Amino acid sequence: MALWAGLRALRSVQRLPAAAGQRGGKRRAARHRSTTPLQRCICAMEATRRRAQQRGKGKTSERIEQTSQWGRAWEVDWLSLIGVISLLCFAPFIVFYFVMACDQYECSITQPLLELYRGEATLLSIWARTSFLTWTAAKIYTAWVSFQVFLYICIPDVTHKFLPGYVGGVQDGARTPAGLINKYEINGLQCWLITHALWFANAHYFHWFSPTIIFDNWIPLMWCCNILGYTVSTFAFIKAYLFPTNAEDCKFTGNIFYNYMMGIEFNPRIGKWFDFKLFFNGRPGIVAWTLINLSYMAKQQELYGHVTNSMILVNVLQAIYVLDFFWNEAWYLKTIDICHDHFGWYLGWGDCVWLPYLYTLQGLYLVYHPVQLSNYHAVAVLLLGLIGYYIFRSTNHQKDLFRRTDGSCSIWGRKPTYIECSYRSADGGVHRSKLLTSGFWGVSRHFNYTGDLMGSLAYCAACGFGHILPYFYIVYMTILLVHRCVRDEHRCSSKYGKDWKRYTDAVPYRLIPGVF
Ligand code: NDP
Repeated sequence: MALWAGLRALRSVQRLPAAAGQRGGKRRAARHRSTTPLQRCICAMEATRRRAQQRGKGKTSERIEQTSQWGRAWEVDWLSLIGVISLLCFAPFIVFYFVMACDQYECSITQPLLELYRGEATLLSIWARTSFLTWTAAKIYTAWVSFQVFLYICIPDVTHKFLPGYVGGVQDGARTPAGLINKYEINGLQCWLITHALWFANAHYFHWFSPTIIFDNWIPLMWCCNILGYTVSTFAFIKAYLFPTNAEDCKFTGNIFYNYMMGIEFNPRIGKWFDFKLFFNGRPGIVAWTLINLSYMAKQQELYGHVTNSMILVNVLQAIYVLDFFWNEAWYLKTIDICHDHFGWYLGWGDCVWLPYLYTLQGLYLVYHPVQLSNYHAVAVLLLGLIGYYIFRSTNHQKDLFRRTDGSCSIWGRKPTYIECSYRSADGGVHRSKLLTSGFWGVSRHFNYTGDLMGSLAYCAACGFGHILPYFYIVYMTILLVHRCVRDEHRCSSKYGKDWKRYTDAVPYRLIPGVF
């Protein structure tokens, strides 16, 4: 968990331009190697890498400086390298551990360790008791991913034509480091609606498959998710060398592991519309999130003959969060994941495995421990979740409105206050921007994260206080978002310079006024 935050942390390690001498040496070496098809292929990869470095890093030191201010690192220190390799090796086992602990130890995360310590179990015996990949799971997962690809690519959005206030269809993304503005087909809400309509039609009318299908195949499906996660990351890695979508937006370090994990391409695409980041970030993981919870709910009903109020709370609160994500998918194009991160293992594998398995631990826990909360507890959790959501959404909305209208809007009934700032992109262009200092953005610099954390705590608190496992999420989110604050502020400080200092003087706290 903390490792995943650590993994995200690696995005902002040292930012130094590669030594020109080294590049020259590689060029000469590449020329000498172009004889066999394999060698020609390597040569092509080198050429692409060089082109990207030359274009991305610009011709003057000023441009190198400016380019280095965006996104993830250009070069990697050895400590980061150890972190990268550890995560590549161990992150899948962290997910495995949690899911296995529920399956074999009724969600106790200490019991497996104690048994190992006392010699009552071995790693091999635990492994042997855990189900592996099955054909059924492989077929379910293939059908699931193919269906989501079909919905994403083949059904242009129509919901924006009849849902007032919803922004869908073709939308512009943010300016990339190389100065491009990509177009995106925003149809996530439509995909979510179609998928869930089919789910309910099946559960209540067609009965093609059991609504507990996800829970019943949960561990075999995890192996399928891992296969997809690693396949897509590897494909994106190779693609970045051989046929990048936009070479100017590629970032290379001299380290193959770091490149693999943190990604090289900024916006890898197949064809005009299949955008890896948008697809894998939103679907199949986030569309699946609510279906996974529904499957847990159906399992509770099957096992105990009723559904507990805690399970309903988790389903409702997380469904609000998921629906909010799709309702605001166009806004999501302007968030850090899309605006600043490259597409590598941490996004590809993270979206395929980490998100669907660890963001849904509360529902999984409640299948094994059907907690019925007192009315007071249930109302308290509901209020915490709704207030957290309100803060999260309103804060994000205020920034979005402010940026969209270039400050010509009303925040909390008043004209917004802001700080004017400027920055330079990799193509040398100077751009102007504004930092909002009123509304929730005047309370703290990341009050949206504070709201998100309140909502996360509510999901965990819905599971009662019997076990640690459901609280994994709030610990993970706290580390993730606190680190994200620091990382984002480091980037903003490089980007805006003294203007950012003026902003932090005006709004001194990050998350909680007076505390942090
Ligand atoms: P933000 O939406 O807060 O975006 C940060 C960017 O906003 C900054 O880099 C800067 O970009 C701009 N900005 C910062 N301060 C201001 C200001 N005062 N006025 C105007 N613009 C400003 O961050 P994220 O993209 O990280 O998060 C988006 C949402 O997603 C959050 O609510 C977060 O809680 C949620 N989230 C959820 C996760 C999960 O796993 N559940 C994971 C990560 C995020 P610029 O360069 O444009 O100035």
